[in-house]
Amino acid sequence: MSGEVFLVRRRNVALIVQKYGGTSVGNVERIKAVAERVVRTAKQGNQVVVVVSAMSGETDKLIGLAHQVSSSPPEREMDMLLSSGERVTSALTAMAVEALGCKAKSMTGRQAGIITDKVHTKARIERISGERIHKALRDGNIVVIAGFQGVTEGETDVTTLGRGGSDLSAVAVAAAVGADLCEIYTDVDGVYTTDPNIVPAARKLRKISYEEMLELASLGAKVLQTRSVEFAMKYNVPVVVRSSFNDNPGTLVAEEDMDMENVVVSGVAYDKNQTKITIVDLPDKPGIAAKLFDTIAGANIVVDMIVQNVSSDGKSADISFTVPKTDSRRALEVTEAVSKELGAKRVDMREDISKVSVVGVGMRTHSGVASQMFRTLAEHGINIMMISTSEIKVSCVIDLKFTELAVRVLHDAFGLAASAGT
Ligand code: ADP
Ligand code: ASP
Ligand code: MG
Repeated sequence: MSGEVFLVRRRNVALIVQKYGGTSVGNVERIKAVAERVVRTAKQGNQVVVVVSAMSGETDKLIGLAHQVSSSPPEREMDMLLSSGERVTSALTAMAVEALGCKAKSMTGRQAGIITDKVHTKARIERISGERIHKALRDGNIVVIAGFQGVTEGETDVTTLGRGGSDLSAVAVAAAVGADLCEIYTDVDGVYTTDPNIVPAARKLRKISYEEMLELASLGAKVLQTRSVEFAMKYNVPVVVRSSFNDNPGTLVAEEDMDMENVVVSGVAYDKNQTKITIVDLPDKPGIAAKLFDTIAGANIVVDMIVQNVSSDGKSADISFTVPKTDSRRALEVTEAVSKELGAKRVDMREDISKVSVVGVGMRTHSGVASQMFRTLAEHGINIMMISTSEIKVSCVIDLKFTELAVRVLHDAFGLAASAGT
């Protein structure tokens, strides 16, 4: 990001960014309810910038349409298509706010000055020139920005920011305009110890550190998109996750502090958006892994877990790795091409897998979390295909059909429902 992002200004009134996700703007009634909340916030004396997602199901519907006209739609055109969903909600929300008697102005990503790199369908925000937003606010408007989108330098092409990317739009806009708070309104009233839709006994966290939230998000807890948390952490944007369906207090995502430190495991996450690719019988010599993963990275595919097994005679190796399901077809093509070049026997792909993870900053100082996780899964007959660990998480790849069971038993095993709140 350029220096423009650091433009933090001192004001007499608070500047609040409110992001509303798909279910929060899922129909006309919901959009009207959002407009009421926005107007209420403005009438309390705040300046308000709203960032909206497409109506729920809309992005999937557009992807479906694309695949009906082409088996491999060009990514530039996908971005043109998908960005339209958010454009619809931004205009409707601005109209609904105007209907309540407040001035509002909707903006596309381009109009809001959101400049990204050229990586279509998963672009990164490079900078935001907040000038146009500030001008509209100074003119007394509630500004409603279409989330999930930007434009390349020189305003040549529309880009989108990856699934769930409206969270990133909101946090980046909050950083760019120096907002006092970024509220993420969704269909749950905060960040829980695990997905409350899978484990009803999950407990809402009052606060969570950026670091833990980043792990949970990157391990699949879609309540916040991973890059949005990275961004919030980097620019120290205070984020609150709340429900647009009630007034319950939400979860504050902020820097780690004393009262966050006393739990070993703070959450369980799962990710069904994973595919495992295995290259069988690769010659085991220096440079093979480098060549393989360089080629995959060159195709803009992010590899997550990697496991290598060398045969007992030391001559060949199997390498397994995971990639996002959305990239699996391209990853397989690229891998098959390199494997042939490298002299591997064959490439296998498994899409019916998932990754379950336990996360907690307390793991830094406590041992035994990994073994307890493995024991718990074993006791329930769940086989582990891959393992990866970091300082504050342990992840296992398992059979997709055991995902919910694994999440429930791990949540229980680590006493998450019962332990004292943070
Ligand atoms: P939006 O459309 O508002 O962006 P998402 O569907 O992207 O909403 O994210 C909200 C969903 O995240 C919840 O409905 C819930 O199922 C899921 N979720 C997964 N893990 C968690 C968690 N630890 N805490 C809260 N919600 C979670
Ligand atoms: N509409 C986009 C999606 O469904 C972006 C978002 O909702 O954040 O992924
Ligand atoms: Mg989301």
